Amino acid sequence: MTKHIFITGGVVSGLGKGITAASLAYLLKSRGYTVAMQKFDPYLNVDPGTMSPYQHGEVYVTDDGTETDLDLGHYERFAGVNCDRHSNYTSGKIYSSVIAREREGGYLGATVQMIPHITDEIKTAIRSAAKPGIDIVISEIGGTAGDIESLPFLEAVRQFKNEAGPCNAMVIHLTLVPYIKSVGEMKTKPSQQSVSILHNIGIFPDMLVCRTETAMEAEQRRKLSLFCNVPDEFVIEERDVQHSIYEVPQELAERGMDAKVLGLLKLPVNESHLDDWHELLNRVLHPERTCRIALVGKYAGLRDAYKSIFESFAHAGIALHTKVECDMLEAEELEADCSKLSGYDGILVPGGFGARGIAGKIAALQYARTHRMPCLGICLGLQCMVIEYARNVLGYADADSTEFNPETTHPVIDLMPDQRGIASKGGTMRLGAYPCTLVEGTRAAELYGQRQISERHRHRFEFNNAYRDTLAAAGLSISGISPDDTLVEMVELSDHPFYVGCQFHPEFKSRPFAPHPLFVGLVKASLKVRGER
Ligand code: GLN
Repeated sequence: MTKHIFITGGVVSGLGKGITAASLAYLLKSRGYTVAMQKFDPYLNVDPGTMSPYQHGEVYVTDDGTETDLDLGHYERFAGVNCDRHSNYTSGKIYSSVIAREREGGYLGATVQMIPHITDEIKTAIRSAAKPGIDIVISEIGGTAGDIESLPFLEAVRQFKNEAGPCNAMVIHLTLVPYIKSVGEMKTKPSQQSVSILHNIGIFPDMLVCRTETAMEAEQRRKLSLFCNVPDEFVIEERDVQHSIYEVPQELAERGMDAKVLGLLKLPVNESHLDDWHELLNRVLHPERTCRIALVGKYAGLRDAYKSIFESFAHAGIALHTKVECDMLEAEELEADCSKLSGYDGILVPGGFGARGIAGKIAALQYARTHRMPCLGICLGLQCMVIEYARNVLGYADADSTEFNPETTHPVIDLMPDQRGIASKGGTMRLGAYPCTLVEGTRAAELYGQRQISERHRHRFEFNNAYRDTLAAAGLSISGISPDDTLVEMVELSDHPFYVGCQFHPEFKSRPFAPHPLFVGLVKASLKVRGER
């Protein structure tokens, strides 16, 4: 029978519930258990696909094309679990399926209510993750205890735990134990209050995980145990890590969290195998060299908007014993003057939507192309590479994407015919995994070391096939194509140290133990070119 772990949050948001959940999953997997993970988000959007990165950070895309919360990136990367459409549910998704069923007459004349209809739908969603062969499901409940919006989810957790019976489901409450400088003390009151909110709604957490700045003392632990009704040994400290999130699993393992969780679920505490992780952490903490990459984007200052890209650079760095320092540069600021880029070893132009910052991205790409600086263009980045080449090499002055200029006389990037006229915004993109064939003899084929690949997409616009031959004849090689030859997936310059564009998002598939070849390729080329300078 599958066991369930629910992770709730208290006091404030942003405590790193996703990293904690993913770290726990990794530790349980390293003791031989199969783990599935899912996240419940209390907002009303059906998925985060229509939300601005300012609201939500990156939208993470799974193989099956679900647009999800960025925490799912941590689940896939840290815990090595595969996520799908059962891995992320929002209130919007839950409510809309209940309402759709009501319209179809699916409730046989009943008054459709929060309890039991919404809570039943949530419990069905929880069960959907417990596929055959899965030993443990970890479900993260977004939001903070006390939020109006997360109440139906917490009520469903209460019911689920009660129905599952003792030792089959448990609740871990992640909370903050702040250090108050003026009194020189750590305070447990906010955690006591947030646990009492859970008690009021019938949830009695089995374990507290306390985010702290410094070491917790016995006195604080005793107080938390007493007031929160959690045995002392299940009050776990999760202190701020010094250098890297890759320290979290080790930190939690040292506190015995995974063994204690297994004890509470009455599962055998098998031997754990963490050697690979220790080696990985060692490489993160002791790099042999550094490499400086400029990320030319439009959400500078908002690292969450490019979360998977930063992680992919960390993975490439681990493989190459290199610390990759990736700075975000505001594309708009490069529009008039790109000289800032000379301080970097390589450039990455990420995906994005809308016209703001396009001129700066195109200027940065022209700089990279003409200064022979290694450069990777992702999705919108590839599209800007094509526009830049058409304008500055072919001389098509108004070449553009119809996303930015519907009147252009050279629509080098355009909607596919079947996309034109679609007015709906949610869920209408090319989403998820698509196969791609790499062209023999290209850098792309060399980097991947294989001809057939599968990568994840999230975009509406495509390379316009009417310009394929002209651009290729002018030197912009097409190195990746859909197997039916209809969609250009990759471009590159053969007479450049590294100038590669991809229509897909490689950052979603990079893993700590399996770095993505395009990121490794960019960092390698950047180190090489710097060495030659
Ligand atoms: N805005 C572009 C499109 O829709 C690129 C999207 C992206 O970079 N993810 O095609």
